[in-house]
Amino acid sequence: MKISNVEVLVLKSPGLYHSPEGAEEPSGPTYMGLVKVSTDAGIVGYSDMETSAPVAKAAVEAPRWSEPGLEFCDGLASLVIGENPLEVERLWYKMYRGSIYFGRRGVVIQAISAIDIALWDIMGKFYQQPIHILLGARWRDRVRAYASTLFRPTPDAMREAARRYVDQGFTAIKFGWGVFGRDPAMDVRLVEAARAEIGDRHDLLIDTGWFVERTPKEAIRVIRSLEPFRPFFIEEILHPEDYDGYRQVADSVETLIACGEQEATEWGFRQLIEVAKVDVVQPDLTRCGGFTVARKIVHMAERANVLVIPHSWSSDLLAAASLHLNAFQRRAVFVEFNTSQGPLSRALVKEPLRLVDGHVAVPSGPGLGVEVNEKTIEQYRIA
Ligand code: MG
Repeated sequence: MKISNVEVLVLKSPGLYHSPEGAEEPSGPTYMGLVKVSTDAGIVGYSDMETSAPVAKAAVEAPRWSEPGLEFCDGLASLVIGENPLEVERLWYKMYRGSIYFGRRGVVIQAISAIDIALWDIMGKFYQQPIHILLGARWRDRVRAYASTLFRPTPDAMREAARRYVDQGFTAIKFGWGVFGRDPAMDVRLVEAARAEIGDRHDLLIDTGWFVERTPKEAIRVIRSLEPFRPFFIEEILHPEDYDGYRQVADSVETLIACGEQEATEWGFRQLIEVAKVDVVQPDLTRCGGFTVARKIVHMAERANVLVIPHSWSSDLLAAASLHLNAFQRRAVFVEFNTSQGPLSRALVKEPLRLVDGHVAVPSGPGLGVEVNEKTIEQYRIA
């Protein structure tokens, strides 16, 4: 079996990422890049990616530039077409090294991530096994989900939203971004309202958003102001590359500190685990380097007693990928479940993932175990 083609399809949803007032449920991603890897055996693998899809398309489709055997500036497709898709580890490194002059991070690692996930999808379909079995473990067949949504602008709207997720069966809710960080007193009231609504039995997770510039001491103050409401973790309280700042914060508070959705590669996560000393790493499979990197992150994190809670705020395709990683982890706490109802979140696969008893089942079919809906692709494809 050989890789015959690698394509990037650009999709655009009619909805906005979130409503301007922030009071409604966000509609999920507006733009999406979908990677499709084809083989001469007729097996096809897919992955979405959270990035600038047109830039990723250029990185994938750029021509061969350098001498065979001395690749350093080549389009990603040119590096893997003709190769055996089952050699995921070698192909990951061939793409990484073969694009190193313009790559390493940003859009290139995101495109490498998506191609890598598609290769694992192909490998699963070839061996007729789900990806978590190929990774080597099915520790669990379902994972507790947290509803992942944006902060609402008033305490009443927070209570109403929190009630809705509990009514849907969620036992954990994460509020993030939105108005948080504009007014510290209001921030406390918003979190207080959510905790009051959900009571003590459910978990409340807070994503404070790194785009609010904070020093470590300011971050510690924010966390202490929220600690009475017992957040399960506080996510991205500092800029994602402020490793020393994260260590200062993590050393100063009892609340778990989470970070990592912007981080990539085993070398980046080593910084987060060993220098930043965060309690929870949140690799996004479509940003960190795909399964080939994520399994190394899981190994590093398990050795260091750090939790891995994958970031997954896109489609059911990414949520399915995250569930396979969850199944492989010795200790998995949550799968992130994007509650948006936009078509790129909910209609990208034929059978959307469902919440049952506050949990989502780990897909058991071959590869990712979910089937891409070609009709949705046709409907929303713009390039
Ligand atoms: Mg986040």
